[in-house]
Amino acid sequence: MIPLFQQFPVLKDKLPYVSLCQFPTPVNKLDKLGQAIGLENLYVKQDGLTAQPFGGNKIRKLEFLLGEALEQGAREVMTFGWAGSNHALATAVSAKKVGLTGISMLMPQHSADYVRRNLLMSHHANAELHHYPNKLLRFLGIKYQEFRHWLKKGKAPYIIPIGGSTPLGIIGFVNAAFELKNQIEKKEILEPDCIYVALGSAGTAVGLMIGLKALNMKSKIIPIRIIDQDITNIATVLELFSKTVDFLHTADPSFPGLELSEEELNIRDEYLGNGYAQFTREGNEAIALMEETEAIRLDGTYTGKTAAALIDDARKQELKDQVVLFWNTLNAQDFSSFIKDMDYHQLPKSFHRYFEQDSQPLDI
Ligand SMILES: *Cc1c(COP(=O)(O)O)cnc(C)c1O
Repeated sequence: MIPLFQQFPVLKDKLPYVSLCQFPTPVNKLDKLGQAIGLENLYVKQDGLTAQPFGGNKIRKLEFLLGEALEQGAREVMTFGWAGSNHALATAVSAKKVGLTGISMLMPQHSADYVRRNLLMSHHANAELHHYPNKLLRFLGIKYQEFRHWLKKGKAPYIIPIGGSTPLGIIGFVNAAFELKNQIEKKEILEPDCIYVALGSAGTAVGLMIGLKALNMKSKIIPIRIIDQDITNIATVLELFSKTVDFLHTADPSFPGLELSEEELNIRDEYLGNGYAQFTREGNEAIALMEETEAIRLDGTYTGKTAAALIDDARKQELKDQVVLFWNTLNAQDFSSFIKDMDYHQLPKSFHRYFEQDSQPLDI
């Protein structure tokens, strides 16, 4: 049983849940990277290994979200993101595992190799892929597809908002903090002073913050912004925090009514570069250093930028004598064997551009 349910059995009875992950994900000490940047106690949480054949942070949220989709008798799940979205892919792969079909409503982004791989793998997982050039067409497309699928299946698709960051999905990361606490108790890791994590739709960071507070742990979350202000900002993070706490407290009144103040929230903006999924030189340097020292693969959209912040802070001596945890949210499973014989012409035409255009210059 997941540690959150062990501690709060009422939640187990009240919340929808379907098991998709292999828990706990490992924590490992990064001695070589630590040595290179002057940190004696640097660790990684390997959420790349949450599941097969595609892991990463989104699967934790999908255990609850797809649990609800199944409980409601849905046949399909519709979700949203940019063309290369890890979340849309995670949803497609996980939905297929539990007998549902994914519908991905995607927006344009700069091309990169990972975008191509994720699109092919989504197609392999039987996802229905749609591409909308702007917000208006996307809005109309959503209404049209919801209606079309309702007509076809007699049931509207279950909707998962972007990144899966609803109060229900976020509970996956409240549980992740409980999982970390168990690993600290088993002495697999020292209690971190700070935890570096990418801030996208914010569910990962918010869930961890709630879990750490509920457990009275000293660890501080350092969220590294990788997405633009209009999508995630201080107000949206505070709102997600209080909505998720309310949701948990309503489901089980013994769950504490936690609060988060603006002063406690230290969102780091300086590693975003030109915007979401636009790679940066600092990010690429962090990717190269992690690869060289620890043979851990990072990406340019999320984890490279997050590691760049950690490395910078360490080199500026701002983390001296601290126990630091890098929460690796990136899928670590190699799914290339599933897509190696696929031809991109099998995808809807609007996605061919990602295969016909060059990658952005900093793609490595
Ligand atoms: C989606 C994603 C994130 C961001 O998580 P949020 O919960 O949306 O903030 C971080 N890293 C990777 C690799 C992701 O795919």
